[in-house]
Amino acid sequence: MTSERVVLVTGGNRGIGRAIAERFVREGYRVAVTARSGEGPEGTLTVRADVTDAASIDAAFSEVEASLGPIEVLVANAGITKDTLLMRMSEDDFDSVVNTNLGGTFRVVKRASKAMLRARFGRIVLISSVVGLYGSAGQVNYAASKSALVGFARSLTRELGARGITTNVVAPGFIETDMTAELPEETQKQYKASIPAGRFASPDEVAGVVSWLAGDDAAYISGAVIPVDGGLGMGH
Ligand code: NDP
Repeated sequence: MTSERVVLVTGGNRGIGRAIAERFVREGYRVAVTARSGEGPEGTLTVRADVTDAASIDAAFSEVEASLGPIEVLVANAGITKDTLLMRMSEDDFDSVVNTNLGGTFRVVKRASKAMLRARFGRIVLISSVVGLYGSAGQVNYAASKSALVGFARSLTRELGARGITTNVVAPGFIETDMTAELPEETQKQYKASIPAGRFASPDEVAGVVSWLAGDDAAYISGAVIPVDGGLGMGH
């Protein structure tokens, strides 16, 4: 399906965000990405933004609006991990992960919602994680920040659902990016053994689901949590 709608993907310079941006470009969307460093893929407009800083988000959105027009599809993808067991987790390990993954989502969605309300149209996709509902030892900060996105999306669906705006959560399992490359080989092997699909996924397998949620066929889907995890989180 092709569309000329305006999309903004946060953290579109690498990993899953980059694959999402590439997918939207292929489908004809007008695509902007935020990046703290580097550039988005070919065919995208790259704007600088740090999702922990509301002023930088505002400036980035204004730049996109001036070049491409109001943002109709927002993908809140930027995220970090700072894994360690609870007993060793510092206040900063906890706060920085929650402030980026949950606070960052709050800031970009709030900024995007104004134009979506005016247009009476919007597609908001929040990138969560299988561990948000499944849990993961060593990731209480990350899992808490990601499960919070479910309550966020469902509350927003109740606030904005009647205005043509959908908000959904995509919960990837293990995807081949820098984030999972950091895992020791032995840990990767153990994870693969517990995934029914028996493998990690490519970032493009997440991108396809995100683009489907942004399209006309998904107009009546909101407040949903869509797993892209090879069956790892079944039932959660
Ligand atoms: P990467 O580590 O490859 O990329 C993370 C992206 O987020 C980068 O573009 C990074 O920008 C950006 N980012 C981080 N902090 C900030 C910030 N403060 N402001 C702006 N941008 C920021 O991660 P993935 O591509 O693997 O993950 C993308 C999303 O998918 C994350 O939300 C992650 O939690 C989620 N996810 C990933 C899974 C996986 O297996 N890989 C599984 C489940 C969920 P920069 O390059 O400047 O650092």
